Amino acid sequence: MKNYFEDEGNYELVKMWRRDFHRHPQSSWSEFYSTGKIAMELEALGYKIYQGEDVIDPERRLFLPDREILDYNYNLAIENGIDERYIIKSKGGLTGVVGVIEGDIPGPTIAYRFDIDALEINEDLSEDRKAVREEYYSKFEGYSHACGHDAHTAIGLLLGKYFSENRKKIKGKIKLIFQPDEEKLSGAEAMVAKGILEDVDFLIGGHIGANLFELGSIAFDVENILAVTRGEVEYYGVATHSTGRPEQGKNAILGACAAITHLNAIARHGKGSTRINVGKILGGTGYNTIPDYCKFYLETRAETKEINRYLQNRAEDIIYGAAKMYDLKFNYKIVTNVEGGENDEYLIEKGIEAVKEVKGIKNIKSKLKMNASEDFVIMANDVKKRGGKSIYVVHGTNVDGGHHSTTFDFDEKVLINATWFYASMYDSLINN
Ligand SMILES: [Zn+2]
Ligand SMILES: [Zn+2]
Repeated sequence: MKNYFEDEGNYELVKMWRRDFHRHPQSSWSEFYSTGKIAMELEALGYKIYQGEDVIDPERRLFLPDREILDYNYNLAIENGIDERYIIKSKGGLTGVVGVIEGDIPGPTIAYRFDIDALEINEDLSEDRKAVREEYYSKFEGYSHACGHDAHTAIGLLLGKYFSENRKKIKGKIKLIFQPDEEKLSGAEAMVAKGILEDVDFLIGGHIGANLFELGSIAFDVENILAVTRGEVEYYGVATHSTGRPEQGKNAILGACAAITHLNAIARHGKGSTRINVGKILGGTGYNTIPDYCKFYLETRAETKEINRYLQNRAEDIIYGAAKMYDLKFNYKIVTNVEGGENDEYLIEKGIEAVKEVKGIKNIKSKLKMNASEDFVIMANDVKKRGGKSIYVVHGTNVDGGHHSTTFDFDEKVLINATWFYASMYDSLINN
């Protein structure tokens, strides 16, 4: 294993893959370029490939882009060299790939999850940035890999190559899950709904950077993966002429504004951190009509699901109260609900054992607060429900810019550190 991951050729390869994904970023449900590339590479490595409706439940996708945008991105992938054979099943926004390889010796099913989506953010093209100097900056205007999922995808491919070349040591089954749409938090759910984790005994996932900004460090005891709930609130009133018969109107915008002001005034919680945001509001028709409809988008996040439930309960009272104040009807629809999660103790132990073999990792960070949400938790909970175990690891690297910024970049040595760790983790799990 040492020789494999110290090999310059493998480092160059994983770096080349990462830069290729970085040049071709596409966001939630449009990740056709990466889907095609992953499917092609895994097939060449001898994996069985699952795609399209075999791995994605179309009903569970949220914030699906319009057909036009999906088709544009589909064609863009083909124009950039993807063989249509590898994305035909994903047409219409069924992106993502699961690759499976089996050994001759019986054993557990171990799954690794990598997210593949980019963000709808323009990349900074200043001359002094490495991505510009070394020409791997985003070619797709309006999109960039500003969270490091290009790294995750490349790590997944190198790990895939490693297992394929070390097939003799595989006991049982390995599943490499390349998940679309992490950022809008519906990719994991759409895959879980297809039962892809039903036979999984151990699930392993992770993120580069994410509050651990030092190359050569790793965190197993990851806390504070925030629970998150997103919902759409709609108020229905009565439209009238605003000067002719204002007393007969029922103003939906006033109701929404009253609710939003008070939502932001929900008391903090003594047992952990909370977040609340209304990030979008729509309503009204013009100057002289009392608006009879208004809609806004509400998000709550909290350190635990109990605290998140507290936020949601208070939010529901306020939404109801504002409707009452302005004599409106309302509808509150939850569209995303991701609970917080924690790592399995047994896998943390195995992780600590495994990391000893990894040359580039010297520092184990005992506790790390994520302060972010991750729909990996949905997969983890699905595995745990059947008695399986899961772990989410943070791979330290220094970064330029923050996650989700226009200048985000990282030290590519983390690509080897992370892949080596995952390979070593496999050994410590099957040789127990
Ligand atoms: Zn992100
Ligand atoms: Zn991310």
